[in-house]
Amino acid sequence: MKGKKANMAFVGISTFCKSPIIMDNMKDFDVAVIGVPYDGGIGFRPGARFGPRAIREMSTRYAFGETGTDASGYWDLETGKRMLEGVRIGDAGDVDILYLDYEYTFSRITEMIRRVKSEKAFPVVLGGDHSITYPVVRGLSGEGPMGIIHLDAHLDFKDEVLGVKYGNSSPIKRISELEFVDKIVSIGTRGIRTSEKDYKDAVNYGCTIIPYSEVQESGIVSVLNQIPFMDRTYVTIDIDVLDPALAPGTGSPEPEGLSYTQLINILKGIASRTDVIGFDLVEVNPQLDPTGLTPLAAARIIVEFLGWIFYRKEG
Ligand code: MN
Ligand code: MN
Repeated sequence: MKGKKANMAFVGISTFCKSPIIMDNMKDFDVAVIGVPYDGGIGFRPGARFGPRAIREMSTRYAFGETGTDASGYWDLETGKRMLEGVRIGDAGDVDILYLDYEYTFSRITEMIRRVKSEKAFPVVLGGDHSITYPVVRGLSGEGPMGIIHLDAHLDFKDEVLGVKYGNSSPIKRISELEFVDKIVSIGTRGIRTSEKDYKDAVNYGCTIIPYSEVQESGIVSVLNQIPFMDRTYVTIDIDVLDPALAPGTGSPEPEGLSYTQLINILKGIASRTDVIGFDLVEVNPQLDPTGLTPLAAARIIVEFLGWIFYRKEG
């Protein structure tokens, strides 16, 4: 037993997957995990500011090296390989947030993404509400042109709410105004709260909208065939794209939705068809989920999506 460490999930500091903390040494990492604990963009039930901490805590369940196992990646049943083997994942901590000052907060988010890209690391962003995706993508200006793939129960293409332009129902609309962004695809849209104007605006812009009903009826291959893939893609995942039975801890749940397997198979298909240059996972609200299922699902989605992204990068 000498020299061995149990390293149980509940022991130690909750960085993402118990990965090392990134200080000034970002160049030493392939992946930088960034928390954005901001929920000032929410118009209904707040609490997503606690998302990053909850996801980090549950991610310890997937920590590499837990209970004496091999510390490099995880073994995948499907490929028969160790996924993420040798991929250096680090936790860059949280972006600084100032309540009631979205300009300050958004500037810090954009700066952080620019830093990660200049240090050649792959950004994984933990939300926060969905408004944070606009300043994240804004920070990718040097990486364009790029496509956006958006998985969400909602379109998030609202121009404004009485002059408020940066709420969590507007990030995709704001992103559509960036000149280095080209093709936008929204997958999983459902419910009865989509406004006709937002829908028409999205269609007129050229968005490809694949509603949940179509995922269900036509299947994953058909969904992937409808996506106009660009060479490079940023992916934004709103946890409410999942069935709320799987992820109840979110501010605006819509009944039904993707199964875990449907979501992972879509993400796997995306990772194999385009160069994913970063992604976020937003709208996890642990205060609405005493079971912890939502941040647990979020952590596993992130690990598996990273697995498939680096599987492709390694050829
Ligand atoms: Mn959203
Ligand atoms: Mn949503």
